[in-house]
Amino acid sequence: MEVEVFSSAQTGQVQREVFCEKCGCNYSYEMVRRGRGEAMTPSGFGEAAAEQRAQAAAAASLNNLLQSQHDPVACPDCGWVQSYMVEAMRERAHRWLSRGSYVVGFLVGACAFFGFFAVAGIGGRSFQEDDLVRIFALVLLAPLTVIAGTAGRSFWSKSINPNRHYPQRPSPIPGAPIGVKRGCGPASTVTSAATTAGDASNTLSFNTVREPLVNAIAAIPEQPSVPSIESGGWVTLQIANAHYPGFCCSCLKATDGVSSFKCAQLASLMIPICPSCEKHRSANQTLFIIGGVMWGGCLTFLLTFFAPKSDLEASLKFAGFGAVIGFFVGAWLARKSGPVKFSSFSQELNTVRVRFSNPNYLRLLVDHGKLV
Ligand SMILES: [Zn+2]
Ligand SMILES: [Zn+2]
Repeated sequence: MEVEVFSSAQTGQVQREVFCEKCGCNYSYEMVRRGRGEAMTPSGFGEAAAEQRAQAAAAASLNNLLQSQHDPVACPDCGWVQSYMVEAMRERAHRWLSRGSYVVGFLVGACAFFGFFAVAGIGGRSFQEDDLVRIFALVLLAPLTVIAGTAGRSFWSKSINPNRHYPQRPSPIPGAPIGVKRGCGPASTVTSAATTAGDASNTLSFNTVREPLVNAIAAIPEQPSVPSIESGGWVTLQIANAHYPGFCCSCLKATDGVSSFKCAQLASLMIPICPSCEKHRSANQTLFIIGGVMWGGCLTFLLTFFAPKSDLEASLKFAGFGAVIGFFVGAWLARKSGPVKFSSFSQELNTVRVRFSNPNYLRLLVDHGKLV
């Protein structure tokens, strides 16, 4: 019986209000999260219901993330990243280490288990002392691996501290949103703004300018956002908020054309690309895939055909297998050679690192587009 798996992803955002622990400022930021859900069903049976279950699971996971998480957003006034935000950063960091230690621990435990039965299964041979010592060592090693992984991760995560150089501003945190100030002690801010704004000759005009000014203060981005271009020309984007200037990401010609670039399962970015570069891109992709299939097929055919004791039928079977591998290698190379490359997609944060083969497009994006 075949089983079909349905996957669904949902992206949502919420406005987070923050009260700065250091300077008493109020600010806010927009937090984006992505929830994912999966549901299984036997092939050809209850597929619509399974799809709905996947969607409901994605919505529930999104809701949970939006309610429980925080982004590391520095206070626009003093640069302090709130302690609970730092805590959330540490919780998310290096997760692979503890997960990996569970996998390794499980494998070591499985080795002990199978080792025991392997020795027990050998006919006419009883347990010898060093068999037991080895098995016991493995049994002990399994939980130790998990403990070491978890402890190592927690120790490593503790070193994350964006406030290390406070009161100096923290270096920009890739993919994190930008805080917008809501005002501190209202009296002082408003009066200073009002005096700089105008030679208010009478009370009436002062009162009329007063109200919009408060809004204007809230709208001014306090710090020019300095997006961190990471080494190798990578930059982290918030997929839901990124805005790309209307120039081809490959040849930089002004264009209205956009194409979908897939960066992960159920996630893609709509990036401007002119029709001729898009044509070139899809032709390139086809070439890489056809090339991969041909090379994979021919190479395995020749290798197995000229091997000793070969026969044609077996070689053809191997060639088919080689062609399938060649297809995947070709598709992978096609993606690597495209005008946009991706790495470090974050399932929860909905962010991805992007690199353009034309580095000038990155400058355009940083200067005239929107990253987070
Ligand atoms: Zn502050
Ligand atoms: Zn172009």
